[in-house]
Amino acid sequence: MSTSEQLFEQAKKHIPGGVNSPVRAFKAVGGTPVFIDRSEGAYVFDYEGKRYIDYVLSWGPMLMGHNHPQVREAVIKQCEKGLSFGAPTQLETQLADRLCDIMPTMDLVRMVNSGTEATMSAIRLARGYTGRDKIVKFEGCYHGHSDSLLVKAGSGALTLGVPSSPGVPAALADHTLTLTYNDIDGLRKAFAEHGAEIACAIVEPVAGNMNCIPPLPGFLEALREVCTESGAVFIIDEVMTGFRFGLQGAQGFYGIEADLTTLGKVIGGGMPVGAFGGKREIMECIAPLGPVYQAGTLSGNPLCMAAGLATLDIISAPGFYEPLFKRTAKLCEGLEQAARAAGVPFTTNSAGTMFGSFFTSEKQVSNYSQVMACDITAFNQFFHYMLEQGVYFAPASYEAGFMSAAHSDADIEATIAAAQSAFARL
Ligand code: PMP
Repeated sequence: MSTSEQLFEQAKKHIPGGVNSPVRAFKAVGGTPVFIDRSEGAYVFDYEGKRYIDYVLSWGPMLMGHNHPQVREAVIKQCEKGLSFGAPTQLETQLADRLCDIMPTMDLVRMVNSGTEATMSAIRLARGYTGRDKIVKFEGCYHGHSDSLLVKAGSGALTLGVPSSPGVPAALADHTLTLTYNDIDGLRKAFAEHGAEIACAIVEPVAGNMNCIPPLPGFLEALREVCTESGAVFIIDEVMTGFRFGLQGAQGFYGIEADLTTLGKVIGGGMPVGAFGGKREIMECIAPLGPVYQAGTLSGNPLCMAAGLATLDIISAPGFYEPLFKRTAKLCEGLEQAARAAGVPFTTNSAGTMFGSFFTSEKQVSNYSQVMACDITAFNQFFHYMLEQGVYFAPASYEAGFMSAAHSDADIEATIAAAQSAFARL
């Protein structure tokens, strides 16, 4: 039995499925999850000391690489002053000022503890602000696990949503319209029919929870337009994309303006942080300024704020992003070439510092049904062949991959070399 196998057995005794977040259990790919002991730069290490080039990066946050000394020092320094006060600190103001300076559409911002809390609160705020109940989301986009958002499409594009988990009341799911990502006609039709009842639309500007699906030209623009026309709040969920496309997120990259933006992952530099913010008029509806309630014992926690501020310092350095964009593109090209050489039907998507790989003969993958039609068995085998060779991709075919500033050209080349052998074995 490997150490990870032993640790997994022990974990299952008192933790449901042995994990604190389902995808970590390797259920999609089979086998035993790798238990991680420590991390450094582009690498994670298991309890036997085996090194993996890591493209999961704690599911996105570690944009500057694992265990960055500057972030670590900032957290240690703050630890010495105390862990949590439940009272305002200067650090929260500093992080809020930085975020509002960077993001063009952010006048006010509220810190929370996770991406789930950020989107859940933004939805409540949009409903409170508009006095409407319905929300629009897109199939394959994930915005955390709050009830209104754990909803999948009904049988037709314009039917109301159905719960995607037991425990979500059907009456609540009724208020969620789930549309097809990148389908501009469907979007216009839904707003033409229901526009006056829609409180908000929420979207991943690049979808990273159905593998990696960038927006087709015109999709985000159309969404902005219909929200403005119907008086719905446009929420751009940048929990994953925030700071992965440049400092202004995917919004800056694609030139789209949100009414509310949700953030998480990178702004905490590996600590649990989320945030939601946006136009003053809407944000002023939040308590204590307004009637929409939202709160948190540990919100704006000083350790998290210190990690976030240190992370922003690192990624604000001039020239930080260009090499990352280049390496992401280089990795995708290398993987495609390796697959072609082995005769494996395969393609990739990449955007900013996110990428996705698809076992399919389609040239372009741009929505959820195409993702679901890919060869999952081939992905799962590929995943395990790469893991054996010390490359850690996300353990499910519907998750995006991430690049960090710590990944070197040599890491990319080693990954491509491993992929050549993995493709050959398929
Ligand atoms: N929104 C998006 C776009 C996400 O990718 C995620 C998490 N993967 C969330 C929200 C939820 O964030 P958290 O897991 O921190 O609750």
